[in-house]
Amino acid sequence: MRIILFGSPGVGKGTQAKIISKNLNIPHISTGDILRKAVKEQTELGRKAGEIMSRGELVPDDLMIALIKEVLASDECKKGFILDGFPRTTVQAEALDKLFSQIGINDAVLINITADENEIIKRLNNRRACKQCGNIYVLKDIEGMKTCPNCGAENSFYLRNDDKEEVIKNRLEVFKSTTMPVLDYYKSKGRVIEVNGLDTIENVNKEIIEALKAKNLYH
Ligand code: ADP
Ligand code: ZN
Repeated sequence: MRIILFGSPGVGKGTQAKIISKNLNIPHISTGDILRKAVKEQTELGRKAGEIMSRGELVPDDLMIALIKEVLASDECKKGFILDGFPRTTVQAEALDKLFSQIGINDAVLINITADENEIIKRLNNRRACKQCGNIYVLKDIEGMKTCPNCGAENSFYLRNDDKEEVIKNRLEVFKSTTMPVLDYYKSKGRVIEVNGLDTIENVNKEIIEALKAKNLYH
């Protein structure tokens, strides 16, 4: 099963991807997480990407395409995967299609999680990430907590650089102008499932699973 999770920053892609990854036992490939790890470890990719990310802009296509090629070639991706954060431009979408046809993949489906922009801005302002494991939390859920419920790290919650208010606006602009066209690209191929992201985590997950089952893709 190959799934591409699509949607605006803050719509809950990462949260849903983690759940589906467990449900279907396929790896969750988050380009954002991979990049943040590279920044933390100051690898060559990290040095190139760090500043771009903190401005809320997109890392160049050639770097991202090379990265995804390497990841998808790994053994753990052979049985399937969930892509979260890629493709984010039509150039990336075309490169991914080419890669898929080279490795004989023709069952990829894009799940579009939708949400109202005002709600998204509120959510991004109110979320915190764990420095250690990258998990995302709603501020009020972790108030007074000292350790991360996911990895146990102490005092590890922080506001991601790109979740700061001035950067959020830019990310949403980039999403509308550069990433939204990716959706039309997939729609023209008829491989899109639409899901409403303005519901509880459990209900959004249910909706995704029902939609996959309806297309006979849940196995
Ligand atoms: P979001 O909450 O916006 O979905 P992500 O964690 O997916 O955040 O990505 C964070 C940042 O990493 C993006 O704003 C961008 O700078 C960079 N990035 C991630 N994936 C890509 C990609 N496919 N192409 C270009 N840049 C990317
Ligand atoms: Zn953690």
